[in-house]
Parts: sequence; structure tokens; C-alpha cells
Amino acid sequence: MNTEEIMALDKEYVMQTYGRYPLALAKGQGSVVWDMEGKTYIDCFAGIAVNNVGHSHPKVVEAICNQAKRMIHCSNIYYTQEQVELAKLLSEVSPHDKAFFCNSGAEANEGAVKLARKFTGNGEIIAMENSFHGRTLAMITATGQHKYKKGFEPLSPGFTHVPFGDIEAVSETITDDTAAVLVEPIQGEGGVIVPPEGYLKELKELCDENDVLLIFDEVQTGFGRTGEMFASDLFGVTPDITTVAKALGGGFPIGGVLAQEEVADAFEPGDHAATFGGNPLACAAAKASIETIIEENLPLKAKEMGEYFMYKLNEQKKLYGIVEDVRGAGLMIGMEIDIDCSDIVTTARDQGVLINCTAGNVLRFLPPLNIDKGQIDTVTCVLETILEKLS
Ligand code: PMP
Repeated sequence: MNTEEIMALDKEYVMQTYGRYPLALAKGQGSVVWDMEGKTYIDCFAGIAVNNVGHSHPKVVEAICNQAKRMIHCSNIYYTQEQVELAKLLSEVSPHDKAFFCNSGAEANEGAVKLARKFTGNGEIIAMENSFHGRTLAMITATGQHKYKKGFEPLSPGFTHVPFGDIEAVSETITDDTAAVLVEPIQGEGGVIVPPEGYLKELKELCDENDVLLIFDEVQTGFGRTGEMFASDLFGVTPDITTVAKALGGGFPIGGVLAQEEVADAFEPGDHAATFGGNPLACAAAKASIETIIEENLPLKAKEMGEYFMYKLNEQKKLYGIVEDVRGAGLMIGMEIDIDCSDIVTTARDQGVLINCTAGNVLRFLPPLNIDKGQIDTVTCVLETILEKLS
């Protein structure tokens, strides 16, 4: 099929929930993807921070193929070696002891909220304005942006929002019934917003003083993206619960709720489940993905390449007045401009570079963590010609 044929069939047979770009992808390797017509693109979006190890990393592919031949799925009423090995590996690389596996970021956050409620016996969750936590009903409620909720009311009770970065506001909102504070360490969909210095540490102290759990949604920031394995390492804060998904599976769908033993043990048999959660195929992919991140030292690569990328973008900020801000950590980078950024995304795509526009005017760069300098040069060069024309 060609792109046009695919688009026509999509319109006819697929629910039109996505504002898709007119581009159908056929394959990917590392930081490069091919469309149906064979044109190549440098992928600076990586499936929204999913392909941290790059597209179809040979080690992940091998693990998936080998596991698929042995067993794809079995019920969670049985044990599998793949699931316990992944849980053990996560306990080694994350600040947590135990894991529950599910299939997506939203589902991980749902699990985290249930765990926090079960552990504390309280109901209320404090979340942040401008946040994003997924598209299930409870998670559009937790999400702090109205556009995701509109038309889907009634929403779930039990969520209150406070401005991101404001400790006083959290302090004033905590009640005797607060179970947890849910926060993205760096807001992703909200426009790559890095919190003020010391904020997350103070948040943890405030939570501890009030016996409230702190949940980090690391669905987007996890697995090396910010230049550390987790953003909790970057900010030097250990949350009580961390939710993960996206890059965990190296492209394969899997999510997880991670917690310290004391908290994790609040879940008893029968409390929570997911048919596909932690299936052997997903766990084999995730184990290979994490091992690759460690072996190839991808958090450090993200840090170094991220610094280089941001340096290049800051050079453009100096030259072009429409660039208001360049921010982020590692290879989670936002460039705020003073106009709608969707045309820039389109022009860049035509020139072979995939980037994304979030929050209306923030160009977001989330490439595979093993993107090389030459590819970053190509991306920034394409961007420069666009910004030059617009200025
Ligand atoms: N949390 C964060 C921080 C996210 O960025 C996303 C997805 N962009 C989600 C949760 C939802 O993940 P999923 O689409 O896998 O449900």
C-alpha cells in the first residue's frame, strides 16, 4: 500500500481519535524511520519517548523472537521466570523493591492510585495543573488540562489540582483524607516544564510530614530519558511509588507500578490484576530493553547528547527572536516559540525530520537516546532554515 491508500482505509475503518500527520511508517532502525514510499526521516519523537534504545534494537528484537517461540502469554495465576527476572532487574535500577505489571502508562497510574488508597486508607489525590497522566476516565480526571476532559464528564471524584511548582498550594490542599500527591518530575505533554530548584525535595518532605505518599509518574521521563535512569535520580528524591511504561519495553507495550516493599505489600491477592500484565513476551522485551540501556550507557549518552542538542538550540535562540526558551533535561527537550508550532513540524517533516509540537507552541525533541551528533546536526540545521524564514 502507499500512504494515500492507508489514509483512505484509516478514514473508513479506524475511529478517528488521532489528529494524525499524513505519514505512514513502514520500518525503523535506530534513530531513522522509513515511510511507505521509502523516504527516510530522523526520528526526534521516538513514539513519544518510547524508543529510548532506538527502533528495533537487535537485542530487543532477538529477545522478542526467542520468547515468542517459547511462550507468548499465560495467565497471571501462574508464575513465569520472565516476570520475576524483570521485577528483580527493576528493583536494581529503580529506587523501589517491588513491581506490578500492566500494559500502559494510564493503567500504571490507575494502579498507583489504587495502591496509595489501599496503603493509606485515604481517598484524595492531589495532582498538578498542566499535567498529563493518560486517557482512562480516572486519568483524564488526574490530568490537569481541561482539553482532555471536555465532553467526557462525569469525571471520577477524589482529585484536586494545584499549580506545578507551588509547595504552599500543596500544603494548603492536604487534608486528613489525602492519600497521595501525583506528579510528573518534568511535565511532558504540558510543554517540557522543569520544576523550580528544590521543589520535588520539598514536596517529598511535605508528604512525609503528613503521611501522604508521593507518586512520580515517570512514564515519559523514565529509563535514561533525562540523562539519569530515572528523573528521581536527577532530582535526588525517592518517591514512594513510581509509574513506568513507554520506554520500559523498548517499543513493546508494558507498564509498571514500582514501590517500596512496605507500600507494595498493601496489595493482597485479588486486589488488582491485568490479563496481559507482565506477560512473558512483554517482560522479555522489557528486560532486553533495560539491559541495553545499561550496557550502552544510554543515560550518560542522553546527558551528553542532550547538552549538545540544547547548546545548538540555544545558539538558535540567540539568532531568532521567535524562540522564547530552550529547556529540559537529557534528551527531553522543549523549544518554546512565540507562534503556533504546527507549521514548523510540517515543514521539518517534509525535510526529513520528525519532531512534535506540544502545548501549542513548544517544539518537543525526544529522540532515541543513541542518536548521534551528525543526526542532531542535521535536525538543528533543518530547524535553523525554518526559523530563519519565519523570523
Ligand atoms: N503519563 C505521562 C507522563 C505520559 O506522558 C503519558 C503518555 N504521553 C501517559 C502517562 C499515558 O501513557 P499511555 O498512553 O501509555 O497510557
